[in-house]
Amino acid sequence: MTDTLADLVRSRLRDVADFPSPGILFKDVTPVLADAEVFGAVIRDMAQRRRGTVDVIAGIEARGFIFGAALALELGVGFVPVRKAGKLPGRTRGLTYDLEYGTATIEVHEDAFVAGARVLLVDDVLATGGTAEAACRLLEEASATVVAFETLVELAFLPGRARLAGHDVHATVVVT
Ligand code: AMP
Repeated sequence: MTDTLADLVRSRLRDVADFPSPGILFKDVTPVLADAEVFGAVIRDMAQRRRGTVDVIAGIEARGFIFGAALALELGVGFVPVRKAGKLPGRTRGLTYDLEYGTATIEVHEDAFVAGARVLLVDDVLATGGTAEAACRLLEEASATVVAFETLVELAFLPGRARLAGHDVHATVVVT
Protein backbone atom coordinates (compact mmCIF):
# COMPACT_ATOMS: atom_id res chain seq x y z
CA MET A 1 0.00 0.00 0.00
CA THR A 2 1.37 3.46 -0.83
CA ASP A 3 1.44 6.09 1.92
CA THR A 4 -0.82 9.08 1.47
CA LEU A 5 0.78 12.51 1.39
CA ALA A 6 -0.63 13.21 4.86
CA ASP A 7 1.01 10.03 6.21
CA LEU A 8 4.32 10.97 4.61
CA VAL A 9 4.23 14.47 6.09
CA ARG A 10 3.19 13.14 9.50
CA SER A 11 6.24 10.89 9.46
CA ARG A 12 8.45 13.94 8.90
CA LEU A 13 6.92 16.26 11.52
CA ARG A 14 8.85 16.50 14.77
CA ASP A 15 7.03 17.31 18.00
CA VAL A 16 9.08 19.44 20.39
CA ALA A 17 7.60 19.70 23.87
CA ASP A 18 7.60 22.98 25.80
CA PHE A 19 8.90 25.12 22.90
CA PRO A 20 8.98 28.12 22.76
CA SER A 21 7.28 28.15 26.18
CA PRO A 22 6.05 25.58 28.72
CA GLY A 23 2.90 23.71 27.66
CA ILE A 24 3.34 24.27 23.90
CA LEU A 25 3.85 21.19 21.70
CA PHE A 26 5.73 22.71 18.78
CA LYS A 27 5.30 21.18 15.32
CA ASP A 28 8.76 21.39 13.80
CA VAL A 29 8.55 21.31 9.99
CA THR A 30 12.31 21.32 9.31
CA PRO A 31 12.41 17.52 8.64
CA VAL A 32 9.77 18.07 5.93
CA LEU A 33 11.93 20.75 4.33
CA ALA A 34 15.01 18.52 4.55
CA ASP A 35 13.30 15.76 2.54
CA ALA A 36 13.19 16.96 -1.08
CA GLU A 37 10.71 14.24 -2.09
CA VAL A 38 8.18 15.08 0.64
CA PHE A 39 8.68 18.86 0.39
CA GLY A 40 8.22 18.67 -3.37
CA ALA A 41 5.10 16.51 -3.04
CA VAL A 42 3.58 19.01 -0.58
CA ILE A 43 4.17 21.92 -2.93
CA ARG A 44 2.88 20.06 -6.01
CA ASP A 45 -0.25 19.02 -4.08
CA MET A 46 -0.97 22.60 -2.98
CA ALA A 47 -0.31 23.81 -6.53
CA GLN A 48 -2.68 21.39 -8.25
CA ARG A 49 -5.48 22.51 -5.86
CA ARG A 50 -4.94 26.22 -6.61
CA ARG A 51 -3.64 26.38 -10.19
CA GLY A 52 -5.45 29.04 -12.22
CA THR A 53 -7.35 30.42 -9.22
CA VAL A 54 -4.81 32.85 -7.72
CA ASP A 55 -2.81 35.83 -8.97
CA VAL A 56 -0.31 36.04 -6.12
CA ILE A 57 0.83 34.17 -3.01
CA ALA A 58 1.20 35.88 0.38
CA GLY A 59 3.32 34.09 2.99
CA ILE A 60 3.27 34.73 6.73
CA GLU A 61 6.64 35.30 8.46
CA ALA A 62 8.63 33.22 8.78
CA ARG A 63 7.88 29.64 7.75
CA GLY A 64 5.06 30.78 5.49
CA PHE A 65 7.81 32.35 3.37
CA ILE A 66 9.36 28.93 2.70
CA PHE A 67 6.18 27.15 1.63
CA GLY A 68 4.70 30.24 0.00
CA ALA A 69 7.73 31.09 -2.13
CA ALA A 70 8.11 27.50 -3.35
CA LEU A 71 4.40 27.42 -4.20
CA ALA A 72 4.59 30.75 -6.02
CA LEU A 73 7.37 29.43 -8.26
CA GLU A 74 5.44 26.20 -8.91
CA LEU A 75 2.34 28.22 -9.90
CA GLY A 76 4.26 30.84 -11.86
CA VAL A 77 2.89 33.75 -9.78
CA GLY A 78 4.51 36.38 -7.57
CA PHE A 79 5.14 36.23 -3.82
CA VAL A 80 4.37 38.87 -1.17
CA PRO A 81 5.80 38.62 2.37
CA VAL A 82 3.53 39.43 5.34
CA ARG A 83 6.14 40.60 7.85
CA LYS A 84 6.45 41.48 11.50
CA ALA A 85 6.48 45.22 12.17
CA GLY A 86 9.51 47.23 11.14
CA LYS A 87 11.07 44.74 8.69
CA LEU A 88 9.84 46.02 5.32
CA PRO A 89 11.80 48.93 3.82
CA GLY A 90 9.10 50.61 1.75
CA ARG A 91 5.84 52.33 2.71
CA THR A 92 3.74 49.84 4.64
CA ARG A 93 0.23 49.16 5.82
CA GLY A 94 -0.01 47.49 9.22
CA LEU A 95 -2.51 45.73 11.44
CA THR A 96 -2.27 45.13 15.18
CA TYR A 97 -4.05 42.14 16.68
CA ASP A 98 -4.43 40.55 20.10
CA LEU A 99 -2.29 37.68 21.34
CA GLU A 100 -2.90 35.65 24.49
CA TYR A 101 -0.64 38.14 26.25
CA GLY A 102 -0.25 41.51 24.54
CA THR A 103 -0.47 42.38 20.87
CA ALA A 104 1.43 41.85 17.61
CA THR A 105 1.66 43.90 14.43
CA ILE A 106 2.05 42.60 10.89
CA GLU A 107 2.77 44.64 7.77
CA VAL A 108 2.78 44.48 3.98
CA HIS A 109 4.09 46.94 1.46
CA GLU A 110 1.36 49.42 0.60
CA ASP A 111 1.78 48.78 -3.14
CA ALA A 112 2.07 44.98 -2.86
CA PHE A 113 -1.23 44.23 -4.60
CA VAL A 114 -3.16 45.54 -7.56
CA ALA A 115 -6.79 46.14 -6.58
CA GLY A 116 -8.77 42.92 -6.47
CA ALA A 117 -5.73 40.64 -6.82
CA ARG A 118 -6.71 37.06 -5.92
CA VAL A 119 -4.40 36.06 -3.09
CA LEU A 120 -3.59 32.65 -1.65
CA LEU A 121 -2.37 33.05 1.93
CA VAL A 122 0.17 30.45 3.13
CA ASP A 123 1.61 29.43 6.49
CA ASP A 124 3.12 26.28 7.98
CA VAL A 125 0.86 25.79 11.03
CA LEU A 126 -2.72 26.96 11.69
CA ALA A 127 -3.06 27.08 15.47
CA THR A 128 -5.41 29.62 17.12
CA GLY A 129 -5.86 31.32 13.75
CA GLY A 130 -5.15 34.76 15.19
CA THR A 131 -2.27 35.45 12.83
CA ALA A 132 -4.00 34.12 9.71
CA GLU A 133 -7.20 36.02 10.53
CA ALA A 134 -5.22 39.24 11.00
CA ALA A 135 -3.33 38.61 7.75
CA CYS A 136 -6.63 38.14 5.87
CA ARG A 137 -7.91 41.44 7.24
CA LEU A 138 -4.67 43.24 6.40
CA LEU A 139 -4.63 41.92 2.82
CA GLU A 140 -8.26 42.89 2.29
CA GLU A 141 -7.46 46.37 3.63
CA ALA A 142 -4.58 46.45 1.12
CA SER A 143 -7.24 45.95 -1.60
CA ALA A 144 -6.50 42.27 -2.27
CA THR A 145 -9.07 39.46 -2.24
CA VAL A 146 -8.04 36.46 -0.12
CA VAL A 147 -9.42 33.47 -2.00
CA ALA A 148 -7.94 30.69 0.13
CA PHE A 149 -5.57 29.68 2.90
CA GLU A 150 -3.12 26.77 2.63
CA THR A 151 -1.24 25.36 5.59
CA LEU A 152 0.93 22.30 6.04
CA VAL A 153 -0.51 21.53 9.50
CA GLU A 154 -3.82 22.38 11.16
CA LEU A 155 -4.17 21.94 14.92
CA ALA A 156 -7.86 21.06 14.82
CA PHE A 157 -8.29 21.18 18.61
CA LEU A 158 -7.82 24.96 18.34
CA PRO A 159 -10.35 27.32 16.70
CA GLY A 160 -8.20 28.38 13.74
CA ARG A 161 -10.54 27.16 11.00
CA ALA A 162 -13.55 28.85 12.62
CA ARG A 163 -11.68 32.16 12.70
CA LEU A 164 -11.18 31.89 8.95
CA ALA A 165 -14.87 31.25 8.27
CA GLY A 166 -15.80 32.30 4.77
CA HIS A 167 -12.40 31.34 3.38
CA ASP A 168 -11.45 28.12 1.62
CA VAL A 169 -9.03 26.54 4.15
CA HIS A 170 -6.93 23.46 3.38
CA ALA A 171 -4.36 21.65 5.55
CA THR A 172 -2.10 18.86 4.28
CA VAL A 173 -2.15 17.30 7.75
CA VAL A 174 -4.90 17.74 10.32
CA VAL A 175 -3.82 17.05 13.91
CA THR A 176 -6.75 16.13 16.16
P1 AMP B 1 -1.72 31.17 15.51
O1 AMP B 1 -1.96 30.73 16.91
O2 AMP B 1 -2.55 30.36 14.51
O3 AMP B 1 -1.89 32.64 15.31
O4 AMP B 1 -0.21 30.82 15.19
C1 AMP B 1 0.76 31.82 15.08
C2 AMP B 1 2.00 31.34 14.37
O5 AMP B 1 2.73 30.53 15.27
C3 AMP B 1 1.75 30.55 13.12
O6 AMP B 1 2.33 31.30 12.07
C4 AMP B 1 2.47 29.24 13.31
O7 AMP B 1 3.51 29.12 12.38
C5 AMP B 1 3.08 29.30 14.70
N1 AMP B 1 2.60 28.25 15.61
C6 AMP B 1 1.58 28.33 16.48
N2 AMP B 1 1.45 27.20 17.18
C7 AMP B 1 2.41 26.36 16.73
C8 AMP B 1 2.80 25.03 17.06
N3 AMP B 1 2.19 24.30 18.02
N4 AMP B 1 3.83 24.48 16.40
C9 AMP B 1 4.48 25.20 15.44
N5 AMP B 1 4.19 26.44 15.10
C10 AMP B 1 3.15 27.04 15.73
